[in-house]
Amino acid sequence: MTIYTGPVFEMCRQQFTAIADHLAIPEDERDRLLYPKRAITISCPIHRDDGSVAVFQGYRVQHHLSLGPTKGGTRFSTSVDIGEVAALAVWMSWKCALAGLPYGGAKGGVTVDPAALSRRELEALSRRYMQEMIPFVGPHTDVMAPDMGTNEQVMAWFMDTYSMYQGRTVTEIVTGKPVATGGTEGRREATGLGVVHLVGSALEKLGISPARATAIVQGFGNVGSVAAEALYARGVRVLGVSDHTAAYYDPKGLNVPALLRHVAEHGVLAGFSRELACDPDELLFQRCDILVPAAMEQVITGANAARLQCRILAEGANGPTTPEADHVLAERGDEVFVIPDILCNSGGVIVSYFEWVQDLQQFFWGRDEVIGRLYGHLDRVFHQVTERAARERVPNRVAAMAIGVAKVRDARKTRGLFP
Ligand code: NAD
Repeated sequence: MTIYTGPVFEMCRQQFTAIADHLAIPEDERDRLLYPKRAITISCPIHRDDGSVAVFQGYRVQHHLSLGPTKGGTRFSTSVDIGEVAALAVWMSWKCALAGLPYGGAKGGVTVDPAALSRRELEALSRRYMQEMIPFVGPHTDVMAPDMGTNEQVMAWFMDTYSMYQGRTVTEIVTGKPVATGGTEGRREATGLGVVHLVGSALEKLGISPARATAIVQGFGNVGSVAAEALYARGVRVLGVSDHTAAYYDPKGLNVPALLRHVAEHGVLAGFSRELACDPDELLFQRCDILVPAAMEQVITGANAARLQCRILAEGANGPTTPEADHVLAERGDEVFVIPDILCNSGGVIVSYFEWVQDLQQFFWGRDEVIGRLYGHLDRVFHQVTERAARERVPNRVAAMAIGVAKVRDARKTRGLFP
């Protein structure tokens, strides 16, 4: 019996089992590596604007403490449940270990549609969530960050609430804060910029010039919009974009700056254009060089992976590709170069780490230093992953996860059963 159920945790379990088999990890070590150390469930009551009281369920899952504090985002979405949060926490562990960061993975979330809350209600919910979490988090136990449905403002409310209870400003309790409240230069853009930097490395490997490449991006939030902007800036023709309200496609290439202006004004893509509107369900399967899923989990499945027409699959989102889809892609051989999520979107947590380090030292770096260090870090990890994949003749995802899982395993083996 386990509380960690549902399709996303099941996917995470299947992925782990495949890697455990690949690394020949004995059966009696596996549960301890996979199942989270701690899971916290809370109720967050808030006053709605009409005076009524609404209660939202919140979660935080801390996967392991063997390498240092846990680290991970907080998601506000109607899909949030304990299984999804746990899977995201486990993936964070492999991601942090792969990137060589001194963290275990964590994730949190509230089951809520943030778009259905007023700003005051969102602030009340954010503060209440953090207040309930105070006994379980801390700069050296668990450090939060943004994820789907949360942003810099929510992080500022988290930080302020924690700080007020401590009686002093504790900027290092969350990352992804506004620069004005102890955040770092470059964090907001870090994930999307990292995705595009790695796409650049993959293009180089495949001998494709960015100026002749085309791209499609699913999701136009923090990760997707920055990725689309950075691809456009590199001269890549962005053929298609989508969010939960609309999808657009133009074989000549979309005007990304105009899309960004539209979203800055209206909050969503809907209403941008009638002529360019297309079927969102078909967008992923149009021919392009670079496909960036940057919205949610499990969009590329065993049923549709054969229809992908991209050369590079750059996983901006966490868990966009199911294990069944991985089998289909593996059977297709080298046709699709996958940059797996735990590598592809790790720019976010790498710059979060830089933010935490700067906050602990109260010594801040300029944007060029942050982005330069990020790209250097990503280059090293990209090389490690592709080199191992070639040497062991395995897909990039297997190589990336094998490095991450082995690092966590080594740390846990040498420390013993406690952390
Ligand atoms: P966000 O809330 O800023 O944006 C999410 C985007 O996805 C929105 O544009 C939304 O409209 C879109 N979307 C939702 N449902 C959709 C659908 N059915 N079809 C198309 N688009 C849809 O979230 P984000 O921070 O950009 O996160 C996106 C993904 O990237 C998530 O999987 C998240 O876990 C992952 N991620 C984020 C970060 C980060 O730093 N923000 C870091 C690593 C990974």
